[in-house]
Amino acid sequence: MKTIGLIGGMSWESTVGYYREINQGIKEALGGLHSAKIVLYSVDFDPIEKRQMAGDWEATGEILADAAQRIEAGGADFLLICTNTMHKVAGQVEAAVNIPLLHIADATAHALIQSNVKRVGLLGTAFTMEQAFYKGRLAETFGLDVVVPGADDRRQVHDIIYGELCQGIIRESSKEIYVRIVDRLAGQGVDGVILGCTEIGMLIGQNDTATSLFDTTRIHAAKAVEWALDDDH
Ligand code: GLU
Repeated sequence: MKTIGLIGGMSWESTVGYYREINQGIKEALGGLHSAKIVLYSVDFDPIEKRQMAGDWEATGEILADAAQRIEAGGADFLLICTNTMHKVAGQVEAAVNIPLLHIADATAHALIQSNVKRVGLLGTAFTMEQAFYKGRLAETFGLDVVVPGADDRRQVHDIIYGELCQGIIRESSKEIYVRIVDRLAGQGVDGVILGCTEIGMLIGQNDTATSLFDTTRIHAAKAVEWALDDDH
């Protein structure tokens, strides 16, 4: 079994989900007392969020590149960045280490293609919903047609992520807002919706809507388990 490297803490609330999902996946595959081999470096999210808001992505990339090097030195065979948004600096992180990065958008695209989804809604931070680094990769590399909510809905989705979910706050009223936004995306003819922020699965799940949901935390963690057990990676 390979050792999985995790850059976590963005937020730690969702890193808990990665830790649980990966260990459960290894236990399901190998049984008994088996558990995942993990090197986790969990950052302090506050200074990173401040730099995101200031648009200083280069500085956030330096923090993550440093974390990646520590994880590599700790013996990890490959690396996950446990957030969609911070894949904006995936190139900077990849350039800093010699171990491969398991890109969250690639794992998600494979899950969508397996489910025959071609036109897909995307929920995430404003950075993820509005910039090219994520939806561009889904469209250009995998030929997916990505639909994002309108401006007001995007603002609400973004504000709930940073103001509530990343702080462990789960509100019924916010869940209703998200479900309504998923319904509006469904009305635009999508075959499914990507929960493209690693905390959204804490708020809504498949029981809340008839629209197929693709939770990036679960998809990314499941792919990490596959890589850990697969000799090709
Ligand atoms: N965890 C979130 C994501 O998947 C947002 C926090 C961040 O800015 O990294 O995008």
